[in-house]
Amino acid sequence: MNRVRLLVFNPVLSVLDYRLPEGMATEFGSLVIAPLGPRQVLGIVWEKERLAGEEVPETKLRPILEVLPVPPLSAPLRRLIEWTADYYVAPMNAVARMALGSTAALRGGGSTTEYRLSGHEPKRLTPQRLAAIDALHGEQASIRELAELASVSEGVLRGLVSAGVLEPVTVDLDRAYPRARADHAVPELSPDQQDAADTFIHAVKAQAFAPFLLDGVTGSGKTECYFEAIAEAIRMARQVLVLLPEIALTQNFLRRFESRFGVPPVLWHSSLKASERRRAWRAIVSGHAQVVVGARSALFMPYAKLGLIVVDEAHEVSFKQDDGVRYNARDVAVIRARFERVPVILASATPALESLQLAEAGVYTKVDLPARFGGAELPEVSIVDLRSEVPDRGRWLAPRLVAGLRERLARGEQSLLFLNRRGYAPLTLCRHCGYRFQCPNCSAWLVEHRLSRRLACHHCGHQTGTPEECPECHTPDCLVACGPGVERIADEVAELLPEARVAVVTSDTLNSPEKISAFVQAAEDKLIDVIVGTQLVTKGYHFPDLTLVGVVDADLGLEGGDLRAAERTYQQVAQVGGRAGRGDKPGEVLIQTRHPEAAVIAALAAGDRDAFYAAEAEGRRDAGAPPFGRWAAIIVSSETEAEARDAAKAIGAMAPNLPDVMVLGPAPAPLSLLRGRYRYRLLINARRSAQVQQIIRAWLDPLSFPQGVRVGVDIDPYSFV
Ligand code: ADP
Ligand code: ZN
Repeated sequence: MNRVRLLVFNPVLSVLDYRLPEGMATEFGSLVIAPLGPRQVLGIVWEKERLAGEEVPETKLRPILEVLPVPPLSAPLRRLIEWTADYYVAPMNAVARMALGSTAALRGGGSTTEYRLSGHEPKRLTPQRLAAIDALHGEQASIRELAELASVSEGVLRGLVSAGVLEPVTVDLDRAYPRARADHAVPELSPDQQDAADTFIHAVKAQAFAPFLLDGVTGSGKTECYFEAIAEAIRMARQVLVLLPEIALTQNFLRRFESRFGVPPVLWHSSLKASERRRAWRAIVSGHAQVVVGARSALFMPYAKLGLIVVDEAHEVSFKQDDGVRYNARDVAVIRARFERVPVILASATPALESLQLAEAGVYTKVDLPARFGGAELPEVSIVDLRSEVPDRGRWLAPRLVAGLRERLARGEQSLLFLNRRGYAPLTLCRHCGYRFQCPNCSAWLVEHRLSRRLACHHCGHQTGTPEECPECHTPDCLVACGPGVERIADEVAELLPEARVAVVTSDTLNSPEKISAFVQAAEDKLIDVIVGTQLVTKGYHFPDLTLVGVVDADLGLEGGDLRAAERTYQQVAQVGGRAGRGDKPGEVLIQTRHPEAAVIAALAAGDRDAFYAAEAEGRRDAGAPPFGRWAAIIVSSETEAEARDAAKAIGAMAPNLPDVMVLGPAPAPLSLLRGRYRYRLLINARRSAQVQQIIRAWLDPLSFPQGVRVGVDIDPYSFV
């Protein structure tokens, strides 16, 4: 009988049965087009016994229309999709969608048309057209993408095509990527590094599941070591996936990759242009893409013959996705490696407590790199107690830190000031009436960005120009900035050291690969004396003449009562401190704090990582927190406050009463209004042994809610807002 079961991409229906018409052949994992009502849907042929669905009578089955010309999703990938949906209590089609990456690519290869400036400029041009032309220099993309780039309508650009200003270019979607050469530039490894590399190479050769925690201090050469494993996979013609926490880090990675392997790797991230997405996806599916580097969305791609997965900076919070399918790419990477039967390397100088625990339990093999490469010493760390070493009035840098900056400047060395706050000031208020600028869509203050002269919400993107007067009492020139952001610190440095060249490094200033490269180049060429940056500069960079790191406010991350606050502070400060003294000049780290007695600050000062992790583990054990207990969250939201509250209450009223599960809430979320939606949260704390997912499904499945209510489940949450 030729009945096939499909996982379909429809928000309401997800499992449907169809008939396979005569002469059409499918396998499990085949991508097909099927009729649904008057429309057509995309579906994946799935094993019937793994996909529960309604039994449609034989006579009512409609035929599949078409099998798409791409290889079927492999069994290991189908198992991964099932596992992820099950573990994170997410719809299976939402997970599967992440494997498709580019829907356009499913239609096959061939070519597409893009446009670029032809060099021909007619005499009479409207200012709008002139501005568009200006914005498009050096660009080549689809009309839609160019329109977005130039902030004009597609109509304007079509006009430019007719006028011959833009010319069409045919782009081959299956254009080959240059081949990486395993032996292009083989480094000489230190004995420690060689041991680590040998372990990985052996595992790649074995083609079996093997999870590693590569635990090495900053500057120890973790990248060099896992590059050797990549080289081995290339020799064996197996594909490699390297996950990085942020696209901002890829630029640096690309350069190192290219000098080791002779060519850049294949990039995969959400802001690739459409033709690059199609090309990359097709090269991944065909097995032609050798090494793919991407943010977490690269994880679910249908690699044809995966041989190795690397997760760099594996402790990073950004591997956790907080909307849509709420999964942790670090954890799912290990699961994928298990299904694919390949090694996976989690690399970090400050591993997550969860990872260390798994290594201790023998689940992960721990590989250590205890020393910096080339004899560089770890920097000396000291505490600046802001209660006794008080910055000048209206300033944020203590005298000792200022003296340190001055000294470095005089010696021609570089400094880095770290403050994890974009913009100029996190809060603006009216001196006269006390009015505070708040986002209309979120329960959050608007952050002043002085460089771009606006007030912006960092949650929803809402922004307004900075007003001249208070909108409440209309007093002119009465607004005061409260607290510092990086821009304000940069101003302070400029006032104190007028001759210093200062660079502000945040996602606002470094928002394109070109700008990132330019920054790295400028820093390497010593055209920058002081870098003031957010977490964007805490990792990855290697500037040999950077010898001083100042942490402007180590207490910032400890506010807010987040379960992982201490760990995150430890990681951030240790990572940013790791930028100092990487060359032959010794480094120094100054940590400004009002709580020098806090365990995490004391551990940082003493350089005692083990003591910190031990204390942290102890605290988590007492609290029943991960990795000793489990957390899950249920987030209820609606555009109507009452609707959200009622739905949350209804969920709370049905909370299971089980001995190993504790339910807290519902309570308004700390961010009780986000992007125009009111939010309530319930928190579930359970023993490790509890079947949290089953419990949550049994609890929520029978409930129904009004249309406008969204109920999301977050397993192993990172964000508690
Ligand atoms: P980590 O990732 O552990 O912080 P990196 O891999 O970035 O360390 O290495 C730090 C610096 O030392 C880099 O500039 C790297 O090129 C250099 N390095 C590390 N190992 C070697 C080696 N065996 N030969 C030459 N340079 C090395
Ligand atoms: Zn907002």
